[in-house]
Amino acid sequence: MPIMDERVNLLDLTFHELETFLVKLGARPYAARQVWQWVFQRAATDFEGMTDLTKDLRARLALAAAIAYPELADLRESRDGTAKFLLQLADGQCIETVLIPEEDHYTLCLSSQAGCALACAFCATGKLGFARNVSHGEIVGQILVARRYLAAKAGELNLRNLVFMGMGEPLLNCDTVVAAIESIRHPQGLNISSRRITVSTAGVADKLAAFGRLGMAALAVSLHAPTQELRREIMPRAAEAWPLPELIAALRAYPLKARDRITFEYIMLGGVNDSPEHARQLVRLLAPLKAKINLIAANPSPDMPFTPTPRDRIEAFQNLLKGKGLTTTLRKSKGADIAAACGQLRARRGEGEEIGAAPQTPPGD
Ligand code: SF4
Repeated sequence: MPIMDERVNLLDLTFHELETFLVKLGARPYAARQVWQWVFQRAATDFEGMTDLTKDLRARLALAAAIAYPELADLRESRDGTAKFLLQLADGQCIETVLIPEEDHYTLCLSSQAGCALACAFCATGKLGFARNVSHGEIVGQILVARRYLAAKAGELNLRNLVFMGMGEPLLNCDTVVAAIESIRHPQGLNISSRRITVSTAGVADKLAAFGRLGMAALAVSLHAPTQELRREIMPRAAEAWPLPELIAALRAYPLKARDRITFEYIMLGGVNDSPEHARQLVRLLAPLKAKINLIAANPSPDMPFTPTPRDRIEAFQNLLKGKGLTTTLRKSKGADIAAACGQLRARRGEGEEIGAAPQTPPGD
């Protein structure tokens, strides 16, 4: 994508596109390796310091290209070490990216769209509506911003896991997400292995087979309800577009490696989806699949029409699932005090001011 002054933002190019671009500038394709190492592994943001390129090529690159990160419009840091980046994109749209500290590494939660068309009832992003898909450069740019933050803060880059669980539905921006993951995995790019990347979908059944065949990331499914009827209440647009029987059929056919399983996310909503009967329905639903379940304690949000399930009820639900042999984890909520936790992302600066997505007609509606 050209940046404001018509120079090409190198973050928007795949490796092959960069090779083509460099050849047009009169360079050898091999220079793409050098440029990518500078951009992704040495965090270069200009060409002057790329000392293994000829002076002439550096000058031509400076005229024709730029390395433009998304602009950090706001940064909020949680008491628990979670950091939320509000990133302003070249056209003024905003997305959020969340950096989550784990015991000995960090996980980064990436946005794949500005806003989201799916309007899940518990989700602040869904209230924004859909603005647009994010680009290749805006995806890899989120990672570069987080790495810059980590380098400045702790002098370390222990960013190990990437999850596409931020704003938007990744499989509705599938081609771009796939291209970005290729760049993320590329040895001269960010060099992060597929095993460290998870794509979380609300259940875009018709994209699953093609995505799964690529084998480039682990799959998580936002399920949140064990029946079509209840799913229609909690995730109305996803349930209508990809009804639960169709989704389960697509997941049964999903290509998995021997030791892999599909993670199902299940947000616990008080009195809505958290009864023992719901747990039994869930066990039956997932019986034909290689599944593990990630229970999520809901986070309060001003617009959320649900109350979180109390802790003892979550534990009873979890025990019931475990008793039936389902691997079940309870995700600790992080960053709730800065509205960075699950369902809370809404591209808001500090207290109150919302910038970014405006409701529009969702794609495919
Ligand atoms: S939960 Fe995910 S799919 Fe649903 S509205 Fe929020 S961002 Fe979109």
